Amino acid sequence: MEKKQELYRGKAKSVFATDDPNRLIMLFRDDTSAFDGQKIEQLARKGKTNNKFNYFIMKKLEAAGVPTQIEEMLNDNEIVVKKLDMVPVECVVRNVTAGSICRRLGVEQGMDLKVPTFEFFLKNDALHDPMVNDSHIIAFGWGTQEQIDEMKALSLKINDVLKKMFDDAGFILVDYKLEFGLFNGKLVLGDEFSPDGCRLWDKVTRESFDKDRFRKDLGNVIEGYEEVARRIGCPLD
Ligand code: ADP
Ligand code: UDP
Repeated sequence: MEKKQELYRGKAKSVFATDDPNRLIMLFRDDTSAFDGQKIEQLARKGKTNNKFNYFIMKKLEAAGVPTQIEEMLNDNEIVVKKLDMVPVECVVRNVTAGSICRRLGVEQGMDLKVPTFEFFLKNDALHDPMVNDSHIIAFGWGTQEQIDEMKALSLKINDVLKKMFDDAGFILVDYKLEFGLFNGKLVLGDEFSPDGCRLWDKVTRESFDKDRFRKDLGNVIEGYEEVARRIGCPLD
């Protein structure tokens, strides 16, 4: 597959066109960003770790019946994916309170939720990704009711699979963000699932093994990601 021009350079990944109009090459860079891009650093091995982590998780999800963008791993930092027409919202599922839900609702961190919550946020850094609901998505034409229903159902199905997988590895899956897109009119999981976009706490110590280590300057960020990979059996070499 021939790599062509860079179509988009995001905060952490770049996407390149290929000679196949339906496929992209996604490059995972070492750039690490937080607070809508206000804090950016290069962390050695991050691109490679997240590329391999994402591939491992998406393969697991596919095996559980979730349609994903994954095609083939090209090298340490690059993967071939289906070119999706992205729905411009982030889907966030929470099992335990942390992050923005604590700030918005004034609740303490670390509360077990009776059932998982599901939230939509508009992808817009300049507006700090405001929360939106179904009616906004339909009214602005970002998606249909059917697509909304499917994003929710798939996000919660993913929760069943991943909560158990991380629990078996000694982690609490606190929350995570997903992005979906359309491929030939069908909803498919895109972007990435890695410790950059989820919160994982050790079940015993409740220590963070995710991007909160970077947000809060706790150190050993990638060592944390590598420990998660090791415990879930995701090969990094
Ligand atoms: P950001 O845009 O938030 O800075 P990234 O650095 O992760 O994020 O850039 C990746 C971009 O590629 C995101 O805008 C994401 O929506 C988009 N994207 C992810 N997966 C696909 C895909 N399979 N097809 C097309 N675009 C995708
Ligand atoms: N998240 C993400 N990208 C975003 C916003 C959130 O990957 O643009 C992830 C984040 O890492 C966490 C979950 O989604 O695992 C919920 O994030 P929250 O709404 O609590 O926002 P935060 O306080 O992390 O900014």
